[in-house]
Amino acid sequence: TTANIGVVGLAVMGSNLARNLASREGNTVAVFNRSRAKTDELVAEHPEAGFVPAFSYDEFAASLHKPRTAVIMVKAGAPTDAVIDSLLEVFEPGDIIVDGGNALFTDTIRREKAVRETGVNFVGMGVSGGEEGALLGPSLMPGGSDESWVTLGPILRSIAAVAEGEPCVTHVGHDGAGHFVKMVHNGIEYADMQLIAEAYDLIRRGTGKTPAEIADVFAEWNRGELESYLIEITAEVLRQVDAETGKPLVDVILDQAGAKGTGAWTVQTALSLGVPVSGIAEATFARSLSSHLEQREISRDLPGPNEGFTADDADAFIEQVRLALYASKIVAYSQGFDEIRAGAAEYGWNIDLGKIASIWRGGCIIRARFLNRITDAYAETPDLPVLLTAPFFVDVFTRAQDAWREVVATSAKVGIPAPAFSSSLAYYDGLRAERLPAALIQGQRDFFGAHTYKRVDKPGTFHTLWSADRTEIEAEDTH
Ligand code: NDP
Repeated sequence: TTANIGVVGLAVMGSNLARNLASREGNTVAVFNRSRAKTDELVAEHPEAGFVPAFSYDEFAASLHKPRTAVIMVKAGAPTDAVIDSLLEVFEPGDIIVDGGNALFTDTIRREKAVRETGVNFVGMGVSGGEEGALLGPSLMPGGSDESWVTLGPILRSIAAVAEGEPCVTHVGHDGAGHFVKMVHNGIEYADMQLIAEAYDLIRRGTGKTPAEIADVFAEWNRGELESYLIEITAEVLRQVDAETGKPLVDVILDQAGAKGTGAWTVQTALSLGVPVSGIAEATFARSLSSHLEQREISRDLPGPNEGFTADDADAFIEQVRLALYASKIVAYSQGFDEIRAGAAEYGWNIDLGKIASIWRGGCIIRARFLNRITDAYAETPDLPVLLTAPFFVDVFTRAQDAWREVVATSAKVGIPAPAFSSSLAYYDGLRAERLPAALIQGQRDFFGAHTYKRVDKPGTFHTLWSADRTEIEAEDTH
């Protein structure tokens, strides 16, 4: 019993997280993997880590002192359940099982409930930052009980990324809260990436600049208010030249975007919660569209403006695209925080939204300078109903909205798809509208289904006798 923490699952994420843990003062790390080879390899390659290898769950449990704490880093889904079951056979009440995989939050809620009945603590933890984050400092989003946080807090704080002196970890909320927030993080990441891709496409087609030249544009943007990891790596990717052909790498990569499903989860969950995350949804659908090769192939000759376009003033156009990107990005984050708020209300989590923005400033893929503004916004008004109405963001929209509209109008006119730019703008204008055509929809619903409606001028619920004399009657509220 020499280790204070253990890691189960030593693929890319688990081995890097184990090394990160081992590198911190005071930690001795037990390691276990289903197949022995990964354990042997990790221990042999990193003698400096002082790992305590285990080759069975019994050995693993015996090497940990109490309360035993184990982080699972295996394939999400059935493998996670299998590992939890095995650990429960050798762990005792008070011990802590942390699932750091990308679990669906409803699975985490189910697992937490089942594990709690055995007296063992279960913590579903979102881990962001990929391989490098796991090794050098990830952004960590643990859920679970307050009791487990007492033991875990100091350990997690020691391995997390640090942003402006603060570790990028917080106890997000109970049971599935951590995985829920990680899911929305990934959804926002989808939207942010799609917006950047649309910006690149518009600039390339509108100015004729080469990928390397556009890399310079992104590098320049990264020195301003758009400063973020995703903008930074975009410049790197655009600058990359293919060794085989000498072409820009981006021109030889197949244009079909992959996805592992967390974007879809974010959208599915938003649909059931009734939260319009249109930017995230468009980004997820844009990846689907890109991968439907057969559909794209037979659609190629559909009529459209095919002459292309050239912006009159390239620099001015690039600046408009930058502003459109910034405004749309604020919409995407605002929608994501809206989903977290709704999820917290639905599942009874007490989530500090400003704190979530602050733990995303380091380690994770969506780390960005403007997350500080989100923290500020919630510090000022903790129950802000719509993030994008915070004064700082209103200032951005004041500056950016003309350019945003111009870019969306141009993309429509010249036939360049910009689904995330345009749906974000439609969402923005939907929020702004004094009257929405939803009134007409209520009329239609009442017509065909007697679904009733409310009036602007008096309380009560009403129905028009559409198939009789079309007089209005008071009705039961069936919403
Ligand atoms: P993988 O998702 O590729 O999973 C491989 C690991 O799972 C191996 O250790 C494998 O053991 C183990 N495993 C698979 N099935 C079982 C089983 N039935 N019983 C026990 N162990 C099993 O590894 P990654 O390191 O890429 O990711 C680990 C987790 O972290 C995943 O849930 C992933 O979604 C999540 N994650 C990944 C990120 C990334 O950037 N890759 C970022 C954040 C989270 P064996 O060697 O015996 O096959």
